[in-house]
Amino acid sequence: MGFISYIRNRIRRGSQDRFLVRCVKKLQVYQYGWVEIKDLNYYDSVREYCKENYCHQYGTNWACPPGMGTIDECRERTAKYERMMLFSKVYHLSSTDLVTDAYENPEVLGMMKDFRDLTIDLQDMAKERIEDFFIYTNGACTICKECTYPDAPCRFPDKCQPALEGTGYMISELANAASMECFIDPKNIIFFGAIVYNYK
Ligand code: SF4
Repeated sequence: MGFISYIRNRIRRGSQDRFLVRCVKKLQVYQYGWVEIKDLNYYDSVREYCKENYCHQYGTNWACPPGMGTIDECRERTAKYERMMLFSKVYHLSSTDLVTDAYENPEVLGMMKDFRDLTIDLQDMAKERIEDFFIYTNGACTICKECTYPDAPCRFPDKCQPALEGTGYMISELANAASMECFIDPKNIIFFGAIVYNYK
């Protein structure tokens, strides 16, 4: 690559990164940071944890295991992108008791919905400037009232955002790589999402 191409490439990359920063700031995220695709690890143990089905979504949805594909398929899907921007949002709990049965609690479920709305908004915003990207969100896809899994293909494969953790990522590891917090105190939950993208 010649020097001029190198500089142009750097400018283009910086411009896309700054655009995404503006997007996530507009969406009032708590923190954001970057993880290089080559540094991503995929853990069978995290997928095994999904099987415990605390969230009641295992095997019910194209965005969660096993419908989202094997861990190798998830790795391949992400490997074609150049960079990941990780972002988080903090939700304040009215009581720490809520965490015990989080996936049954309307307050927590409301927070999860709010975060999924945020990642859907990011998808719409990113389309303006980023040609090739993919978004991970927190938990199962809730676009349709009832998911077609496993009887028919996903109705909206371009909109469906897979679960970040269900992919096999260890959230604490991602947060650490992006220099972000993954725990504040028991009265605050942090949800994470990510956008993986190419520079064009
Ligand atoms: S878009 Fe609809 S069919 Fe596809 S994963 Fe989401 S809920 Fe299921």
